[in-house]
Amino acid sequence: MVGGGPGDPGLLTLHALNALRQADVIIYDALVNQAILDWANPAAIIEYAGKRGGKPSPHQRDISLKLVELARNGKRVLRLKGGDPFVFGRGGEEAQTLVQAGIKLRIIPGISAGIGGLAYAGIPVTHRDVNQSVTFLSGHDRTGAMPSAINWQAVSRGSQVIVMYMAIKHMPDICRKLLDAGRDPNEPVAVVSNATNPDMKVLETTLSTAMQDIQDSGIGAPAIVCVGRVTLMRQCLDWLGQMDGVPVRDLDPLNVRSVSETG
Ligand code: SAH
Repeated sequence: MVGGGPGDPGLLTLHALNALRQADVIIYDALVNQAILDWANPAAIIEYAGKRGGKPSPHQRDISLKLVELARNGKRVLRLKGGDPFVFGRGGEEAQTLVQAGIKLRIIPGISAGIGGLAYAGIPVTHRDVNQSVTFLSGHDRTGAMPSAINWQAVSRGSQVIVMYMAIKHMPDICRKLLDAGRDPNEPVAVVSNATNPDMKVLETTLSTAMQDIQDSGIGAPAIVCVGRVTLMRQCLDWLGQMDGVPVRDLDPLNVRSVSETG
């Protein structure tokens, strides 16, 4: 059970690379960068388990059972997932089915889009001057609706920084809930789509303008939405942009210390 990271093949772990070279069968999900598969053992059978051409994705149960069947036939099976398999990736469910079937497995974590993807946009998920906690949440549940189990009041009041996966579809409702619960309309928000890939896009906005800006910019899934003042750090830390000659906008975007101070 392997995490392939958010896209950039260089973000694979050495364990993941070894697994790609050794696997007999590789079953990969949507959002796995195909370039990663170039490292597979040339004799490996490679199968796609996500949505394709508008057709519905195979049922979760069917994928899990297929992994069991292949493993029982003596194959070394690599289940490749985007990001980290245990972060909104159903890796826990699939791994559980394997263990229940008596199959030995190995878990290889990956870099999750909500951390590594934001880093590529120059956004640290924590910064001492902003937050001592982060909330990761999913913008929709297994039915596609907004997750009813999320206590938006509590998130709004208690989460210094909120990192949202799968949130684009329900952004209007999510913004409304956060604002109704008292979150500052001017709070900075960043939307990072196709993070770490060559077509990565970053939108900088605020809680009250996010909806309109997302619509106007046409930025779409897959995207991470980050709510919180850490997103301001991009004004200083947009390292990818800086490589392309984009000037640093602010050396101290949080206005907390003189630039020469290091403590
Ligand atoms: N296991 C994955 C998350 C799977 S859920 C992980 O740890 O990253 C799918 C959601 O992840 C997408 O809807 C999007 O919100 C986010 N995501 C995955 N890859 C992404 C990428 N390259 N850029 C932006 N968001 C991404």
